[in-house]
Amino acid sequence: MDNEFQKFFLESVPVICRKCGGKLFYEGNGTYKCHDCGETEMDDFGKIKQYLEKNGVTPAVQIAEDTGISINVINVFLRDGRLEIPEGSKIYIKCERCGCALRFGRYCADCTKQLAGEIKGAYYENMGQQPKVLPQSKDAGKMHSLENLKRRNRK
Ligand SMILES: [Zn+2]
Ligand SMILES: [Zn+2]
Repeated sequence: MDNEFQKFFLESVPVICRKCGGKLFYEGNGTYKCHDCGETEMDDFGKIKQYLEKNGVTPAVQIAEDTGISINVINVFLRDGRLEIPEGSKIYIKCERCGCALRFGRYCADCTKQLAGEIKGAYYENMGQQPKVLPQSKDAGKMHSLENLKRRNRK
């Protein structure tokens, strides 16, 4: 957990029950429960998780608009690996070293290996995952699936 993440995260953690003023206890998955009245509250991560469960795959900009959570916070969750961009998305975050597309994390596998070689073992926790299908223009996508079809028919 880096400092940037910690700062955003701690700011969003609910401590006191809004209903009765009782103390909240962490229940996991960004949810906090009041042991006095049973009310549950969520931190930013919990809110985003709930939003995604309800609305399905949504661009970060849209999530920020609908939940009121800053896009920076969402980015921090992506970099931290707590959120990930699903396969088939048109937009990905970029590897901080080489700029290739990533679904989450800070560095792609190749850059992680190189960085880890330079400074031993320090970068593995920041390793992200590249999407299997890279974002392409509509036509490029069509060509690709046609090619696959041909290959499949040949078998
Ligand atoms: Zn309460
Ligand atoms: Zn990279």
